[in-house]
Amino acid sequence: MDTAIDTGIDWAQVRADFPLLTRQVHGKPLVYFDSANTGQKPECVIDATNDFYRRHNANVSRAVHALGSEATDAYEGARSKLARFFNVRSDELILCSGTTFAINLVAYSWALPRLQPGDVILISRMEHHANIVPWQLVAQRTGATIKVAELLPDGALDLNALYAQMTADVKLLALTHVSNVLGTVNPVTYICKEARKRGIVTVIDGSQAAPHMPVDIAAIGCDFYAVTGHKMSGPTGTGVLWAKREHIQAMPPFLGGGEMIKEVRFEGTVFNEGPHKFEAGTPNIAGFVGLGAAVDYLSSLGMAHIEAREQALLAHLTDALHSIDGLHIYGRAPRKAAVVSFAIDGVHSHDLATLLDLEGIAVRSGQHCAHPLLQWLGVGTTCRASLAFYNTHAEIDAFVAALHKVRKLLV
Ligand code: PLP
Repeated sequence: MDTAIDTGIDWAQVRADFPLLTRQVHGKPLVYFDSANTGQKPECVIDATNDFYRRHNANVSRAVHALGSEATDAYEGARSKLARFFNVRSDELILCSGTTFAINLVAYSWALPRLQPGDVILISRMEHHANIVPWQLVAQRTGATIKVAELLPDGALDLNALYAQMTADVKLLALTHVSNVLGTVNPVTYICKEARKRGIVTVIDGSQAAPHMPVDIAAIGCDFYAVTGHKMSGPTGTGVLWAKREHIQAMPPFLGGGEMIKEVRFEGTVFNEGPHKFEAGTPNIAGFVGLGAAVDYLSSLGMAHIEAREQALLAHLTDALHSIDGLHIYGRAPRKAAVVSFAIDGVHSHDLATLLDLEGIAVRSGQHCAHPLLQWLGVGTTCRASLAFYNTHAEIDAFVAALHKVRKLLV
């Protein structure tokens, strides 16, 4: 089943690219179902990072020596690869540590100087804390207020209500592309079109979308798009903020220091232009070399193939979970990614996750950095099985068998 699905890709061979997946945990073969938390890394990413430190390590944009140019080329090469991957210009891509940093950058550099009392920031019920708390900090400091777009019972956004909430006082809409709890895929292209008509600036959190589906930022038509590298097979501490050129030009720097300047005098400083204006200090050079290798790797598989593969795994998992008595799945939107949050009647999710771990199975339990969503779901905590293309149908069967076993112990 794993070697011959309609993508024509040998997924067993693909899985073999991920060295960590051969591990045993508590004496059992590892079943890694926590990719929404962080993704595993293929050999080529590990090798690229390693090779940078072994053969090219130097700082970027500073030294004229050979290693300095090699490091700069490798770092800027990664920016170009990421730009191609997301169909945007590389001089609109700010390299940063991840989605949290990217959203904070927009909050501090775009929103803080602009918003005033009476302005509204619109977010949704399904946001990760990274797309809630920065806006609360901005609201506290500017006097703007936050309004929340609510969900339909299946976990899809209530689009009619959302459009009705897009009133003249809304200056900014901050929305996730894919929910990390429900898996809901939001129709961001349509939503951004509606926002544009009303002059609302859009920030899309692409953290859970970029690893799992083709993302064409230019086609989405947002103002800002934030991505986390470690969830898309890249190293930790890497991420990207794409910003429309007019914003890059207009926004003041977020952090000051080396790299982000043209000229510094005690009387005043001339800032760098383009994305470099926002990249103060030495960046995570080796990390971005690894992320460049990651997008090469994902492109070689094809994001549409990855999406098809994960949808097949999701259908299998959702179907198989019906066999577990008292199990409830949270998030059944018509379009969803391979993230399944669930709870079993009478069982605490931490107990469940702990016993699953003893079976070699890694799932996340808790509130998934989405407290307001969990409050709405009316459930204290859930377990979350989040899949990636390197998972297998056999792992799903092992997971469901383990759930039957541990449920008997806990109920
Ligand atoms: N947004 C969503 C939807 C996420 O799932 C996550 C991480 O889980 C983040 C933002 C934050 O990403 P990072 O911690 O890499 O900055």
